[in-house]
Amino acid sequence: MSIDINLTDERPSFVTHLDCSISGETYPADQVHGLSGAGRPLLVRYDLDGIRAAVSREEMTARPAGLWRWRELLPVRHVADVVSLGEVETPLVPIPVSGGPHVLVKDEGRLPTGSFKARGLVMAVAMAKALGIKRIAMPTNGNAGAALAAYASRVGIETIVFCPEDTPEVNVREIAMQGARVWRVNGLIDECGAIVAEGAKQGRWFDFSTLKEPYRIEGKKTMGLELALQLGWRMPDAIFYPTGGGTGLIGMWKSFDELEKLGWIGSKRPRMYAVQAAGCAPIVKAFEDGVEHAERWEGAHTVAAGIRVPKAVGDFLILRAVRESGGRALAVEDADTLAAVADCARQDGLLLCPEGGATLAAYRRARAEGLVSADEEVVLFNCATGLKYPMPEAPNWLDRTQPIEWDRL
Ligand SMILES: *Cc1c(COP(=O)(O)O)cnc(C)c1O
Repeated sequence: MSIDINLTDERPSFVTHLDCSISGETYPADQVHGLSGAGRPLLVRYDLDGIRAAVSREEMTARPAGLWRWRELLPVRHVADVVSLGEVETPLVPIPVSGGPHVLVKDEGRLPTGSFKARGLVMAVAMAKALGIKRIAMPTNGNAGAALAAYASRVGIETIVFCPEDTPEVNVREIAMQGARVWRVNGLIDECGAIVAEGAKQGRWFDFSTLKEPYRIEGKKTMGLELALQLGWRMPDAIFYPTGGGTGLIGMWKSFDELEKLGWIGSKRPRMYAVQAAGCAPIVKAFEDGVEHAERWEGAHTVAAGIRVPKAVGDFLILRAVRESGGRALAVEDADTLAAVADCARQDGLLLCPEGGATLAAYRRARAEGLVSADEEVVLFNCATGLKYPMPEAPNWLDRTQPIEWDRL
């Protein structure tokens, strides 16, 4: 393989066990797990003292960049189980005009399959391979299914993917092209999830829904690890994250704790802003109501398909992280999201996906409401390449056989 992930079995994982995110009950590592007995996500735990003794912050910084540099903090034990399509370190791109002088976009659109779902799925598929899982099913709004299909095909695992019927055509075709059996379903993502759950109960496949297996969080947490390293082992003042199932927000929050326990960062944390669309904002409603769990959002609709998630299993983990951080959950209108995408593309040359546009729209609102000040350092997450999404028409057409009206060009 020509991808230099530079790994040997001398640098093993330091995973010790898993525990239930609600009851704390522990589960053994190196076994197939879904949700905990309490029906909640499992969190992977590590021997952090062991890691501190084995690798220094400086050594970590000196390694080749990319997701697999974090190997000690990831669950995969053997190099033979590592799968990779070249998970690059994503850049922090300043957007001084459409955002502000201290606004950085972490551009996750540069990852394999064009979205940050690659981070979660590369890890979950590697663990599925290690644990001998042969067939996987998943509900998806598009990007997760594409990443699953790509990584699973690469290691010879069969995949069946269910999409809400209004999933963009390009996503459905990408999933099919990368080797999955993909089905459009006349329902929303949680209704697709019910089909996956029923098939899993019948023993047809393993359920890879968001947070229903423990390892996607571990892949997504590399966003937090990477961010800390890129900023010179310190934290920004605020993070704006487009929140659907919340894997990334939960994962980053977990990674900051791990980094502090390793002594690699201090106790400062960014305020976490969970961004949702006004047409599907269950976490915002729960945040404002002061409750721990969110109710299903009825009639969900938004242009930002990645955050059209009416009900999240990890709702309490998202809300807990947001509250502990001193941040907030914010809803933005689609019109403001699309205006933010257009401004960022025209003024700063960076094409965001709609979900990324939602974080810029939320940042602007937070500035207007005085939640964030102009001199604070802020990181917005653009979670997919804007190229996967429909764009406004560009209808100009030039007939080169006619006289050209040069002043109109
Ligand atoms: C999946 C997705 C999200 C939401 O991510 P979660 O971690 O599941 O909340 C946001 N944006 C895009 C483009 C996505 O594909």
